[in-house]
Amino acid sequence: SGSAQLAELLRQEIARVGLTATVQVKRTSCHGFCENGPVVHVEPEGTFYTKVQASDVPEIVASHLVGGQAVERLLYRDGAGKTCRTPKEIPFYAKQTRLLLANCGYIDPEQIADYVAVGGYRSLVQVLQHMAPEQVIEEVQQSGLRGRGGAGFPTGKKWAAARRAAGDIKYIICNADEGDPGAFMDRSVLEGDPHAVLEGMLIAGYAVGSTVGYIYCRAEYPLAIKRLKIAIEQARRWGLLGRNILNSGFDFDIILKEGAGAFVCGEGTALQASIEGQRGMPRVKPPRSTEKGLWQKPTVLNNVETLANIPLIIRIGAERFRQIGTANSPGTKIFALSGAVANPGLVEVPMGVTLREVIFGIGGGIRDGKKFKAVQLGGPSGGCLTEQHLDLPVDFDSLTSAGATVGSGGMVVMDENTCMVDVARFFLAFTQAESCGKCTPCREGTKRMLEILERMCQGRAGMDDLADLERLCRVVKTTSLCGLGQACPNPVLSTLKYFRNEYLAHIVDKH
Ligand code: SF4
Repeated sequence: SGSAQLAELLRQEIARVGLTATVQVKRTSCHGFCENGPVVHVEPEGTFYTKVQASDVPEIVASHLVGGQAVERLLYRDGAGKTCRTPKEIPFYAKQTRLLLANCGYIDPEQIADYVAVGGYRSLVQVLQHMAPEQVIEEVQQSGLRGRGGAGFPTGKKWAAARRAAGDIKYIICNADEGDPGAFMDRSVLEGDPHAVLEGMLIAGYAVGSTVGYIYCRAEYPLAIKRLKIAIEQARRWGLLGRNILNSGFDFDIILKEGAGAFVCGEGTALQASIEGQRGMPRVKPPRSTEKGLWQKPTVLNNVETLANIPLIIRIGAERFRQIGTANSPGTKIFALSGAVANPGLVEVPMGVTLREVIFGIGGGIRDGKKFKAVQLGGPSGGCLTEQHLDLPVDFDSLTSAGATVGSGGMVVMDENTCMVDVARFFLAFTQAESCGKCTPCREGTKRMLEILERMCQGRAGMDDLADLERLCRVVKTTSLCGLGQACPNPVLSTLKYFRNEYLAHIVDKH
């Protein structure tokens, strides 16, 4: 959006007016308010300018930094026309609970000192100096944290299983292979607060008894990779990675591995095969990764957001963490809100808020005054929900019971003009292309399902096609080897459940 150029122009203008000694320009990361970038945040007063252009720079410097007067025309106006000076006054931010995203947009992610200045690595110090590994696992178990990658498995239980497993070496893997269409939560955490993920991995390593961690990051995230490399290098220089960390006797280092563009490598066993240098294909489970994972050694595989929760849990304690969110889904969840919504962006809310609050309260409702039709949750493994679900709490169990999933956190909003058969076709085209081909139901089934959906969208399908589609959904779901195949019928099944009339219209209307 031109932010880099803007930062440079601000630097030059500040130098020109002789303020370099008192005003520092920092490049941060995504603020999450995507439609309104580039943003300029003036501290300490917190003034928040949106949609800033290069031509606005002289006025910001002359009026605000020299004259002490905010540039009113660059301040955000909410739906009622009220001028908002700081993020706290903007409904998009005011209705969120930004705990994991607290540093995103505020610190320079390429400076470890910035992270330390806001309390970073204090949880690691606390753990190394005052807690036994078992106590750390107990704290994470007590917090009730569930994996944020999609499955919602209890993190502490996974760590306990890996600690119990016999093995001369154990691994921690951070799954940063975020590939769902419409998902950019992990990317923002990695780009905006990479040290929080490293700190989470270090604490996991200490708790489980591991000395080596891998971050498997998709190559399509070059900025995240660049910032992770800088963060790892800085952490090594500060004695926070390597041997005898902070004189505690604990050794741990992190290796960054770039993916090669296969969606299926987000699946744990395929990801491990890829790190081992093999073709990224899932394998049959059991054994579970906590017993025999990477190179047949006990391995904990957690997603980026899960790991970013760990320093927070240690800092505030399991009891306070449990008070956020719901009893069965404690904590917050980051959602990537996109599609036909007025304020698309990155949203962090306590688990259990309603879809209505996220889409209308934070997202500002449907763009261009159109009507809400559906929301697709959880990417190609998730499902579509409708108006009748708007007051459903967003947590692992409620969404699953309605036929969708929290998934990793993609939330694509659709308006009245959306064709739901086409939505199902879009997601199935994605999973069909990404099927690794190892097992027959997914390899062949997704191809046949896609052919039917394409025929429907072209007005060439009959009722027998609809019956075949439903049968194939059942077969592929129940007989595929890994989660990709098992979950890929979900967008079809949920649209069939809630928008069957649209499928029938494609057949009946045109035959
Ligand atoms: Fe590969 Fe699909 Fe089978 Fe998974 S379900 S192993 S992606 S073919």
